[in-house]
Amino acid sequence: MNEEAEFLRQRGESVIHLGIGEPKNRAPISAILSSAATLNTGDVKYSPTDGAPSLKKAIITYTEENYGRIPDPDNVIVCSGAKQAIFNVLYTLLNPQDEVIILAPYWVSYPEMVRMVLGVPVIVTPEDGGLHPRMKDIAQAVGSATKAIIVNSPNNPSGLVYSDEFMAEIVEFCEKKGIYLIADDIYHKLVFDGKRPAPCYEFTDKEIEDSKIIVINGISKLYGMTGFRIGWAIASEKLVRVMTNVQSQVTSCASVVLQAAAEGALTGIQSIVESLRLTIENNRNIIMKELEAFNGVKVTRPGGTFYCLPNFSAYNKDSVELSEFLLRKALVVTVPGKEFGMEGHLRLSYAGSVRDITEGIARIKWALDPDSPNEIYIGNKKLVRDWL
Ligand code: PLP
Repeated sequence: MNEEAEFLRQRGESVIHLGIGEPKNRAPISAILSSAATLNTGDVKYSPTDGAPSLKKAIITYTEENYGRIPDPDNVIVCSGAKQAIFNVLYTLLNPQDEVIILAPYWVSYPEMVRMVLGVPVIVTPEDGGLHPRMKDIAQAVGSATKAIIVNSPNNPSGLVYSDEFMAEIVEFCEKKGIYLIADDIYHKLVFDGKRPAPCYEFTDKEIEDSKIIVINGISKLYGMTGFRIGWAIASEKLVRVMTNVQSQVTSCASVVLQAAAEGALTGIQSIVESLRLTIENNRNIIMKELEAFNGVKVTRPGGTFYCLPNFSAYNKDSVELSEFLLRKALVVTVPGKEFGMEGHLRLSYAGSVRDITEGIARIKWALDPDSPNEIYIGNKKLVRDWL
């Protein structure tokens, strides 16, 4: 779909991208200066595989400030993106046929990564047809082969922030069963409505060292630094040691220039995260207003991230077909819910401009809703709907 959108864009068509998974802001100046300073020394060599000590120190401070826990340096591994951190964890934890519980809707990479390391993804879909996971559905799916559960809140693709009650329950459940809990917290500060979701650590008395909670984080989403490719994991020393061995045979350390950028972001002025969050919250309000006025579309209000996952099944139950149709007819890029384990839905991103959001939804409405006017201007072309 992205390739087709790019092809149309290059042909001069006015394509609107509601599929994007990254904010539009520029990287923080502190990140740029810090990486430039490293480059200027001309002394750009390997760091320890698990990360430059100064970046690990910044991550420890970040964890203390945001999670109320002080990990030891041996509890931290820096990777080339949160993605590599998650893959590393799965590669380290799983034996062939071990099962990992993945909560639908889920980030597309989880099931693929589990399969790549010869594990078995077990998808748990809320039985009540909603987007928030339920402990009773999860408990039913857990068996003797379950090694880990992945929790991603705020969630890509739904934008839902899981309730504190649920997080407390799942932490307790995993501890009781001796299951690893992988908390992908990559969006943890992009939350709205004055809320602050409680991190997993708040629901356990165990020290990081004795706990089976693994926290994944990174700079991609909060600082708008997706291209810098730095993420990390916080886990017990034993796990970090094995992850480090794995990583040392695959990529060695993450790029030291980009580690310096991450350190600059974490130690620089943090208001950048808040201003990004405010922009995105405003965008969330705008997209919600547009979607709530859209006949037949059901949408759960996102509490974080820059995504929402409206239910379009009243128009087409096949999300791939619907997404292709919207690109062809209305020149709007969306992501089919099928990719996230939620058929009948489309993931819409509100990380872009207000204009993209309002015009994108107006075009979708024009393409689908027979009650909307049947003419629209796309770029300088007047289009007439002749399929409803
Ligand atoms: N986890 C989730 C839920 C994501 O949505 C993404 C990126 O889209 C990642 C992890 C990957 O983050 P990174 O860019 O740090 O690899």
